Order: sequence, then structure tokens, then C-alpha cells
Amino acid sequence: MVTVNEAKQLIIANTQLLEKQKCALDEALGRVLAEDVIAPISLPPFRQSSMDGYAIIHTDITQKGTPLTISGESKAGQADLPELKPGSTIRIFTGAPVPVGATAVVMQENTARENGTLTINEYPIPDGKNIRRVGQQIREGAVALGAGSLVSPGAIGFLKGMNMNEVIVHRKPKIGLLVTGDELLKAGDALVPGKIYESNSAMLAAALTNAGASEIEVKYAADDFAATAEALAALIRDNDVVLASGGISVGDYDFVGTALESLGAETIFYKVRQKPGKPLLFGKKDGKLIFALPGNPASSLVCYYEYVLPALRRMTGWSDPFLRALQLPVRYGYSFDGERDEFLKAKIEGSEVVQLDGQESFVIGSFAVADALIYLPVHQNKIEAGELVEVHLLPV
Ligand code: AMP
Ligand code: MG
Repeated sequence: MVTVNEAKQLIIANTQLLEKQKCALDEALGRVLAEDVIAPISLPPFRQSSMDGYAIIHTDITQKGTPLTISGESKAGQADLPELKPGSTIRIFTGAPVPVGATAVVMQENTARENGTLTINEYPIPDGKNIRRVGQQIREGAVALGAGSLVSPGAIGFLKGMNMNEVIVHRKPKIGLLVTGDELLKAGDALVPGKIYESNSAMLAAALTNAGASEIEVKYAADDFAATAEALAALIRDNDVVLASGGISVGDYDFVGTALESLGAETIFYKVRQKPGKPLLFGKKDGKLIFALPGNPASSLVCYYEYVLPALRRMTGWSDPFLRALQLPVRYGYSFDGERDEFLKAKIEGSEVVQLDGQESFVIGSFAVADALIYLPVHQNKIEAGELVEVHLLPV
């Protein structure tokens, strides 16, 4: 049995980055940069006006009401520009190139125009006012985004602005998923006594798709040693990561542990001092990661979010792969006995976190509306309403 923190450290220590590959920027949303991206050009590439107004030489303005002669125009996209001469001004628009000689732009609202003359109703005007400098956002040759950065919509906008259309990322993992349990019905089967509808595979597949798995191969095995071992062997051979659902407890019909052992898989840890999800097993074979998740749906999903997802993120280059954690005041007092850390399904409401009804490991309905987990280490086994607790945000 390991602690929650030991389990997390062991997972990270045993997780390797997947190979690098090129990815079209248009398809890279949600992926992580495998290498630093160096700016191929400066942004802005030329001096730009940040206002609709008039380009001036700021030293020409010696008091409010200074008149200037309007000598031309610079509009967005214009290539050939007149030079600005002392005593004159050039009409200019947002994003347009600032003419040579100009040192500032006066916003239109601070001017008055009559015939060919412009009166500037602003004084003093500092050097460079309303001018975006070359490279003010990023200089050619500088690191635009570092390795480990998430490709967000903002990142796509930033890189496209430098005519970058491809990035280097880590390959997406292929996942094998083994579902065990003689009690499980498939979708559409008639409900008969003693059986339940199988729901973990769809739940985990949804979470895996969200996390960017490239392929998910699902196999089903009866509660039988040979069938379990055979399915696991094939999944381990053909995938980067294998998840098993159920069959990892101490019941007489739990065969995942012994099947893995028979295949020569290394057990890195078995059992975590936590509730729910104690029977989690983490192992490795031929460089492939294996997570045997408890079958109870809420236990399975807690283990997925706290352990599997960070491993998948790490493999694809995330530098901080764990769920985002923050401290929030809790709505209700709560206490527990025992020696295990607890994860509670919860919802953030306003600036507090609220425990949901239905914390038992077989109850998945509370997870259906949860957007966070409260993490309570054993030493925090008695909390008062309003006390700060560690909250892990579930990915959306
Ligand atoms: P196990 O970990 O195999 O002992 O299963 C623990 C509990 O989870 C039992 O109540 C199972 O019926 C339930 N369970 C196991 N696998 C699934 C599944 N794929 N979908 C829904 N419930 C499951
Ligand atoms: Mg079972």
C-alpha cells in the first residue's frame, strides 16, 4: 500500500514521453508543444498606429491648439508612404504603418480639422504615444512559446500571426481498455435479475477521448483467469497504456492481478491509502503502462482523474500534469474515520466548494454533476464549514 503522493510520484517516475511528431497548427488545439517555438519574425513587423488619428512629430506640439498641415494618409495595408515633414501631419488608421519621421499618433478625438489644417488639442504628447514598436509583442529569434505550453486558441492566434502553420508535439497515446465482470450487460440487452448495465467503458472512453487518446481498443473478458490474461496480453502488445476495469479486488473472481503477474508484468504499486479507489494497481510491461482500476464506477473515475490522466498528460509533454488544485472554503462540515485520504465529489458554487450527496463508490450520479474533487488527507479528517480544503478541478 502506498500513499496518494507516493502513487503520484511513482507514476511520474515511470512515465516516458512519447515520440515527437509534426502537427498542423489548425489541428493542434489541446496538444502540448514538444519543443520551444522560436519567433520567425517580429510582431509587429513594422511600426503601427494603435489609434485612428494623426501621425505627428511630437516635438512640433508646443501647446494645446497647435495647428499642422495635413499632408497625406496612411491606411491599413498601405505599402508606400510619404515621409512626415516638420509642421505637418498624416491622417492614419489603426494598424496602418507609421510614416518615417513620425514620433507619435494623436487620437482623432483630440483634434479638430478644418480645410487642410488640423488643430491638436492635446499637450504634452510623449515620444512614441499610440505607436506599436517593431517587436513590441515578440522579437524575431526569441522564444515565442516554450516546450510544455498548451496549444490554446490564444496560442494558435499568436503563432498564426507569425505565419507558423505547424508545431512539434508528442504523439497521442493508444489506449487499451479491458472490461471485466460476469454481471455486465451490453447496451440494448434486456435487464435480467443479478445483472447491471456496463457503463465504465463508455465513461472511461469519454474521458480518454477528452484527454486526446488517438485510439481506444476495448475488450471484454469474463471473470476467468485465462480469458483475462489473454485479453490483457493482447492489449498490452498493441497499445501504449492499458486500463482494466474491475477484477482487481480480493474477491475469488478478481483475476486481473494474477493475470498480470502471469504475464510477467511488474507491479509498481498495488493499493493506495485512499477512499475511494484503494485497490488501484499500477504496473508496467515492455515499457507499456498498466492501470488496473477498481470496478465501482466512482472509484474508477477518481483513479482515472488522479492517476491515469496525469500519466497520459505527462506522456504528451505536460509539465504539470495533475488536476489543477486550489484552496477553497467548504460549504459543510465533514469528518471521517480510518487511515485513508478521501476524495469527495464536489461542485464549486460561487467562491466555495460544496460536497455532493452520494459519496459511496458505487454512486456515479454525484459524479455526473461534479466539477471538482475535494482532497482530504487523513490529517484533515475533521473539517468545519468554511474551512479551506484542497480542490482538484475536473477537466471540462
Ligand atoms: P469489481 O471491482 O470487479 O469487484 O467491481 C466492483 C463493483 O463495480 C461491482 O458492483 C461491479 O458490478 C461494478 N462494476 C464493475 N465493472 C463495471 C462496469 N464496467 N460498469 C459498471 N459497473 C461495474
Ligand atoms: Mg468484478
